[in-house]
Amino acid sequence: MNDKNSALNQILDLTENGQTIKLDYFMQIALNYYYANSKIFGSEGDFITAPEISQMFGETIGIWCALNFERLDFKEFSIVEIGPGRGLLMKDLLRATKQLKDFNQALRKIYLIENSFALAHIQQANIIDHRAVWLKHIGELEAGNLIIIANEFFDALPIKQFKKNTKCWSEIVVAQQHSKLVFQEIPISELNSSADIPNGAIIEVANYAHEYAELIASKITQGAFLTIDYGYLKSNYISTLQAVHRHKYVPVLENIGEVDLTSHVDFTTLKNIFNEKGFNTEIALQADFLSSYGIMLRAEKLIKEGANPAHIAAQIRRLMASDQMGALFKVLQAIKH
Ligand code: SAH
Repeated sequence: MNDKNSALNQILDLTENGQTIKLDYFMQIALNYYYANSKIFGSEGDFITAPEISQMFGETIGIWCALNFERLDFKEFSIVEIGPGRGLLMKDLLRATKQLKDFNQALRKIYLIENSFALAHIQQANIIDHRAVWLKHIGELEAGNLIIIANEFFDALPIKQFKKNTKCWSEIVVAQQHSKLVFQEIPISELNSSADIPNGAIIEVANYAHEYAELIASKITQGAFLTIDYGYLKSNYISTLQAVHRHKYVPVLENIGEVDLTSHVDFTTLKNIFNEKGFNTEIALQADFLSSYGIMLRAEKLIKEGANPAHIAAQIRRLMASDQMGALFKVLQAIKH
């Protein structure tokens, strides 16, 4: 029995004899199997993230780190990346900041938080630095002066979905019908004061993401947090759950553990979590963030150093254009002095 069959078997066992499991539990099982596989990134894999598109992405985030290091006036600090994928962002960030003497003298440790053994292994080949330390969960990290970054991490955490019906709220669950998995709705409560929410609305609740965000906030005694992801400021009351395989959308309940499952990130709730913990926060579009931290200067520099101008222009377009990643992707910055 291979890994992906055991993800499916586990879910089939849990949904035997009319039992159901909640969407977040289903996602947790499927994602654990999925991320245990290492061939998920790049043109051969299922999806391409910004650090996979261009080295300029991680380099620009390196500049953001260096500026915050100065603003925070750190004598010593550590950098943390959560969910580093193949480790390219950190590799580019470290290269871009290598010449900064004060920054490197103060930089104690580089923590990579990764729960997939296979991906941690790949990261170890890409991030060659004696200060690098791998952890499985942010809970293992000591609180202190920290700069924490996470690209396309929150979209990969399990969510719950609820639906508003004419008479009640229901929760979306996974059930089994004739040995096939299906979505079902289970009534959970009567309607109360939710008149401003339209009938048929789907409400997504990202408990895992919110708990993770609270933990991140609790670890930063002083410091900065940056997360970039596809997401929204205000919910459209639709399901944003999606499955992607080899760069195409596929059904969520097929090929379990073999396809990438994600949902759009609710940036307003994330921002509020950091505000409540005493951070100054700001949300920007990816294009605006990258341009204000100098991505176009990086592009010119690379071209001067001999990079192919057409390739650089194509990378900039993918990261910045509003019909590409520029506007769908949002950036949350949270700073605590
Ligand atoms: N940041 C990378 C990868 C994004 S994919 C990039 O931009 O290319 C999501 C990453 O988060 C993967 O590395 C995955 O293994 C990791 N991940 C998912 N859930 C996690 C969890 N609960 N704890 C730690 N890492 C997790």
